[in-house]
Amino acid sequence: CGIVGYAGPLQSPSERPLEVVLEGLRRLEYRGYDSAGVALVAPGLDTVALAKKAGKLANLVEETQSRRLPDATAGIGHTRWATHGGPTDVNAHPHVSDEGRLAVIHNGIVENFAALRDELLADGVAFLSETDTEVAGQLLAKEYRRAEGDLAAAVRATAQRLEGTFTLLAVHADHPGVVVGARHDSPLVVGLGDGENFLGSDVAAFVSHTRSALELGQDEVVVITPDTVTVTDFAGTVVEPRAFTVDWDA
Ligand code: GLU
Repeated sequence: CGIVGYAGPLQSPSERPLEVVLEGLRRLEYRGYDSAGVALVAPGLDTVALAKKAGKLANLVEETQSRRLPDATAGIGHTRWATHGGPTDVNAHPHVSDEGRLAVIHNGIVENFAALRDELLADGVAFLSETDTEVAGQLLAKEYRRAEGDLAAAVRATAQRLEGTFTLLAVHADHPGVVVGARHDSPLVVGLGDGENFLGSDVAAFVSHTRSALELGQDEVVVITPDTVTVTDFAGTVVEPRAFTVDWDA
């Protein structure tokens, strides 16, 4: 339902990724949701740091405080409006795969999740949740291995196999300065910062940090790092996104 992504300076792990993601989720609350979660990555962390809770954002904030999430360099956050699987802690996004190293959040519906899940079950994948999203995440882990650790290539390959609607964001412990996003029939915008970059399902996710934005086109994949934004189509051809300035009051 609501999506936030953030990539900041690799030199200085800090509390900023968590703060940016939680503030973005707060600004996206107006859309309505039933659960919320975050995943963080940082140099030296072997797995993603994950916190997710059913119910109000306050529950997630309490969880992140009581668990003391590690300092980070990049992060993703999601407010969920359940379509497949009830509104529980386990079904909340992010969904983790690749032995806790890969995390995804997703807006929309993966219509072909049953066929994909059967394929992955045959590979021996064990599912933790009842969501269509976890199927996309496990498929991404498979494509990540096939792409030999190229996260953007893996997201492109996954996007080509998903039917339905999606904005999908991914982080991997091997790439602590990177967030990759993809969209099909669901919006995704980029916020351009100074030595940091943002992603959002709408500009509310980052408007308190930057007014400079890029709009992703249909069937595009974006890779943000603290200093770069690269957009391609699902085949990997680089495309030029449309730049705009956010002109409403935050
Ligand atoms: N279909 C996904 C789920 O039920 C995503 C729902 C949403 O857009 O928040 O988990």
